[in-house]
Amino acid sequence: MTAESTIQDTFASAADLLAVIQPAAGGRQIKDPATGELVGRVAEPGVAELDAAVAAARAAQPGWAARGDAERRELLNRAADAVEASAEALAELLSREQGKPLNGPNARFEVGACAAWLRATASFELEPETLVDEEGTHAQLFYRPLGVVGAIGPWNWPMMISIWQLAPALRMGNTVVMKPSEYTPLSVLALAEVLNSVFPVDVLSVVPGGREVGERLASHPEIAKVMFTGSTATGKAIIRSSADTVKRLTLELGGNDAGIVLPDADPAAIAEGLFWGAFINTGQTCAALKRLYVHEDIYAEVCEALTAVAQQMPMGVGLNENNVLGPLQNKAQFDIVANLVQAAKDAGARVLTGGNPEENQPGYFYPATLVADIDNDNPLVAQEQFGPALPIIKYSTIDEAVEMANALEVGLGASVWSADPAAAREVAARIEAGTVWINKHGAVDPRVPFGGAKQSGYGLEFGAEGLKHLAQPQIING
Ligand code: NAD
Repeated sequence: MTAESTIQDTFASAADLLAVIQPAAGGRQIKDPATGELVGRVAEPGVAELDAAVAAARAAQPGWAARGDAERRELLNRAADAVEASAEALAELLSREQGKPLNGPNARFEVGACAAWLRATASFELEPETLVDEEGTHAQLFYRPLGVVGAIGPWNWPMMISIWQLAPALRMGNTVVMKPSEYTPLSVLALAEVLNSVFPVDVLSVVPGGREVGERLASHPEIAKVMFTGSTATGKAIIRSSADTVKRLTLELGGNDAGIVLPDADPAAIAEGLFWGAFINTGQTCAALKRLYVHEDIYAEVCEALTAVAQQMPMGVGLNENNVLGPLQNKAQFDIVANLVQAAKDAGARVLTGGNPEENQPGYFYPATLVADIDNDNPLVAQEQFGPALPIIKYSTIDEAVEMANALEVGLGASVWSADPAAAREVAARIEAGTVWINKHGAVDPRVPFGGAKQSGYGLEFGAEGLKHLAQPQIING
């Protein structure tokens, strides 16, 4: 049988997906953040349903582990085929629920990344390691399944982040129970529906509940590990909830990434990279550029070049093929961005473009906004805005720029921009962040481990390193 012929359900449209993931009646309404229109309804299971899903996952886990690594790799590859076969339907639903446009580095890109990450996760080699082999001591390190892995996700990249959590967990012989964000449950349910046309029953399940379901998942005695992506505040709550069961945790938390533009950079050459580094997914990205430090010698030119790029990027309803920027996903996030930009204006900062959202619009659109001549302690700089507003701070010396970049409690990503990559790498080494990019920002790669420094979290995802974080290391010595 070919991989193609084993994909039982191919979905042609978001409506086809909704027909199978919605409850027959009732449920909570999910509205399109661009139009306010109804996207669909979601059932809201509680703690009892979570417990049932965990029990089923527990029962399924030994059989899943017993299939062996080669078969699980094959199934991950077939899952990627299934995602590709329903890609347009998934992208349409994602666009309507999350708000991100189909085009640009948005909904189609996210669905494509799901397939790419599934394939990459299937491809990594992870063999037992012989640590000592000598007279009297033969010590080997094996990577065993943990059991049931719980996954709790955010609303910004709901499909892609779900894959980041579930693919390595399944590869290592664990079963998975997911709790998506209350804002984007349909996207995760639809993705799981497609994946489950390939995976055996109860190996992957989704319980789309609220915070109480998340809390139960983090404290559940039958869950061995929680993969969490979301805010630092919730990450701390999960550490507390998980303490009594000494659960393993991977925490991908909030960031407030700095970018440093060195004086030798060419403003015109870097402007588009800076723009997408900051505004990808309309700024609602964990490792997006959120504070830009520019040397005084080229400050005016960088501001000008970035403004020119920002002003040519169409923002609007996601299903319109012309748009590359969308709305904020929800009202709370819109208010955070609006209030932070207002605080910057009140403090006398200069708005280069944007900053004035239309009133009485049906969607949560906030224009791409650049704010210059702003102090480093302004809330728009010091807090994670998680939206389309970038503060640009002037600096005089590299030491000063590095000190400002390192001043916060978070350290997810950062970037250095220069015509001299070797000089940029020297500055990069001084920045307290899990990843520092040179002349780009936020480019993640399934082969390259990713994780935060400081209060941006701990644990690594991606690559063979990421697989190890979904396994119980076991030494056999003798
Ligand atoms: P959030 O922390 O509000 O919610 C994330 C998830 O946690 C949701 O599913 C929510 O229901 C659940 N939750 C809330 N309270 C809980 C509790 N007490 N116990 C268990 N679960 C609970 O985050 P968000 O607003 O959805 O996402 C935005 C944040 O996520 C930003 O700070 C962003 O930087 C961060 N983020 C980080 C990464 C990364 O890789 N580091 C990636 C994406 C987003």
